[in-house]
Amino acid sequence: VIAGHFGFAAAVKAKERATPLWALMLATQWLDVVFAPLLGAGVETMVPLDSAKPNEYGNAIIHADYTHSLIGALVLSVVLGVALAAKYGKRSGVVIGLVAMSHWLLDLPLHRGDMQIIAGTPGTLGFGLWRSPAASASIELGLVVAGTWLYGRAARDVAGADTAMRRRARLCTMLLAVGGVAVLALNVAGV
Ligand SMILES: [Zn+2]
Repeated sequence: VIAGHFGFAAAVKAKERATPLWALMLATQWLDVVFAPLLGAGVETMVPLDSAKPNEYGNAIIHADYTHSLIGALVLSVVLGVALAAKYGKRSGVVIGLVAMSHWLLDLPLHRGDMQIIAGTPGTLGFGLWRSPAASASIELGLVVAGTWLYGRAARDVAGADTAMRRRARLCTMLLAVGGVAVLALNVAGV
């Protein structure tokens, strides 16, 4: 899940306008940002179900004990929220922490029963929607479309009659839409 998380962050930006978009985008991928180096170091692993297609969409059991266990995700979310609260204020810090935690909640329906409560215990959580790539990708696309639409509406609101700001709002909305769909397409194509 990558694009779906971005879509959700765009939707949050529509409501929480004081929190910078980049921080929400970072928050929504935060668990995976930490996951990447741990994956590289072999501390966390991804085992493809079909080893001939290692990058196939949703085709892996993910052993992300630290970053994607419930407790691990909570700790990482609090760390990011507290770190950014120092710069953007308490409210933004809370929003950023919650958005970081939303990553875990959004991964839950898709993961194939490999998410843990505490690192090191057997993974049992995850409803396995990845068994149906079409359903999973549809949910992600829905999040991208809904998130971008909400963001676009809010950005237009903020811009008001200011032509330059309206142009900027349109450009940002377009970038979000194109970026979200491109990420999802690459993901589904197994790149
Ligand atoms: Zn994840």
